[in-house]
Amino acid sequence: MRSYSLIAPAKINLYLEILGDRTDGYHELVMVLQSIDLADQIDLHPLSTDKIRVRCTHPQVPQDKSNLAVRAAELMAAQFPDAFAQYGGIEITIHKRIPVAAGLAGGSTNAAAVLVGLNLLWDLGLTQSELQELGARLGSDVPFCVVGGTAIATGRGDQLSPLLSLDHLHVVLGKYQSLTVSTPWAYQTYRQQFGSTYIRKPQDLASRAASVHSGPMVKAIIHQNGVEIGQLLHNDLEKIVLPAYPQVLQLRETIHQSGVLGAMMSGSGPTVFALCESLNQAQQVKAAVRSALPDPDLELWLAKFSSTGIQVASSV
Ligand code: ATP
Repeated sequence: MRSYSLIAPAKINLYLEILGDRTDGYHELVMVLQSIDLADQIDLHPLSTDKIRVRCTHPQVPQDKSNLAVRAAELMAAQFPDAFAQYGGIEITIHKRIPVAAGLAGGSTNAAAVLVGLNLLWDLGLTQSELQELGARLGSDVPFCVVGGTAIATGRGDQLSPLLSLDHLHVVLGKYQSLTVSTPWAYQTYRQQFGSTYIRKPQDLASRAASVHSGPMVKAIIHQNGVEIGQLLHNDLEKIVLPAYPQVLQLRETIHQSGVLGAMMSGSGPTVFALCESLNQAQQVKAAVRSALPDPDLELWLAKFSSTGIQVASSV
């Protein structure tokens, strides 16, 4: 039986607004999500036993059933027991390049890669939207990670509307290696501090979410206007994470002052990205940030916007 290697890109949020509470305990969100070419590689090897195993050398990535890639394989095995019985178990090897607990959807994109890969390996013939429906059961970012590109995400982040893809922009990503932010902590703290401002009426929530389609960020994306996109970057979670993590605030300010189109924290952080119009600008910004903040704990990466989600790198 074949083995597959898949490319699983990270995502950044160009826009993240928290509108209110949902009856399922999640938040009602409006986001604009963007894939970037900083990616993990996921290898899927068939096993002769009925086990689902994961291997990853990154110390922060669990190697048990709590790994989101394992949960994706278990979901597929439960949904398609005949295929699982026919093809047997699977070994998932994660080559981790996306920083962990960084607001870049690292676990979600690994899960998306397993869904896409097992669909191929087990010859299931599932459509992209069927894979996305399965992905939504694993996490709000998984449906986006399956398809990638540029998209509006509403609901708890799993209702997607694709946008004209933006693949000409570059980013510099900065993250302090020793800092991680818990996504549940960030959202719970936001609720404690800003819950009184939430939109309560379901019809008001729905119309606010719908209005993003004709909002300024979406118009800037449709016009492929990097300058405006940079000015319109927005993330409500910065109000929680930046005061709690002064190093992240300092990084954001340093990046902002280095002449970029815009700078913002991605998702629940603590990764901060600088939006740049060219690779040349991104290289200069990376060098400027490195010399302003010579702390060896600060890691910096260059990446380009990408118009794709999970892709097959090779199959043998
Ligand atoms: P989220 O916003 O979904 O919490 P994130 O992008 O901020 O995600 P992840 O890199 O997905 O962060 O890591 C979040 C947590 O998930 C970590 O504490 C990590 O231990 C756990 N985790 C489980 N599976 C994976 C995986 N395959 N890759 C990375 N982290 C994983």
